[in-house]
Amino acid sequence: MKKADIKTGFLCNNNCQFCVQGDKKKKLGNKTTDEIKKILKNASRDCQIVVFTGGEVTTRKDLIELITYARKLKFKTIQIQSNGRMFAYEKFCEEIIDAGANEFALAIHGHIPEVHNWLTQSKSFHHTVTGMKNLRKLGQRILTNTVITKSNYRHLSEIAKLLISLDVEQFQFAFVHALGAAEKNFDRIVPRVSLVAPHLKKALDIGRHFRKRAMVEAVPYCFLKGYEDCISENIMPDGKIYEFNYVIPDFTSSRINDGKTRGPNCQKCKFLNVCEGPWKEYPQRFGWEEFKPIRNT
Ligand code: SF4
Repeated sequence: MKKADIKTGFLCNNNCQFCVQGDKKKKLGNKTTDEIKKILKNASRDCQIVVFTGGEVTTRKDLIELITYARKLKFKTIQIQSNGRMFAYEKFCEEIIDAGANEFALAIHGHIPEVHNWLTQSKSFHHTVTGMKNLRKLGQRILTNTVITKSNYRHLSEIAKLLISLDVEQFQFAFVHALGAAEKNFDRIVPRVSLVAPHLKKALDIGRHFRKRAMVEAVPYCFLKGYEDCISENIMPDGKIYEFNYVIPDFTSSRINDGKTRGPNCQKCKFLNVCEGPWKEYPQRFGWEEFKPIRNT
């Protein structure tokens, strides 16, 4: 199935220190209802999955109207990508579900308020966790994303345990992409991937133990020996991204060709043809020393 990822705008009620959107919030604001409806109509021609993303879509007053319209256009999956705070209100959850949303991709960045709230620069941990509980109570599918940063990588196992206790369908750990706020805050936000890897594997083991799908994004094969089946890029559906004022028609090739990169040693690696490499900003700052090619045995 093909996916359309719609950036509805950049206004947000969190202020994450790693936000790739940076100052777009101030510069661009939100799209209008009519603009998004036009995009939905266009996307419905060849996409079966629609993702409402931002910014923070749940701060939009017209969200119910947009979801209702997406249902009318017969998208099979209507996913809401969110920081989860508004789902702390049960009535809000019910309205969104009644309108037609049937999948929720929520972001959580710590196992305790001190970590999550520091990273999001908002008192949001309890809202997000309550939001997950409310959605599960209403029988909804929850997929989560955790951005791996310097302040949470040692706690990935604890985050995994929390998410299992919340009964999410799938959790994903995504290595921070050093753009926007993450680029500005690089020194305090971006960890060394070689230090992250052992913690990541322990967290993935917890997923395996409890038979939950646990995934990793933007961490190459050379750090994930024995965990190759957890690489998200291999299962991401094809699709397009409706950015604020332009369209990326093929997200997979744009991610591989413009976002990621491979280094000099990658030519000797047996994963060369399947590995996307790290986000290109990482080796620009840290070099390629940590990336050891995997040889054929
Ligand atoms: S191709 Fe490069 S980045 Fe990818 S696994 Fe091999 S050495 Fe690592």
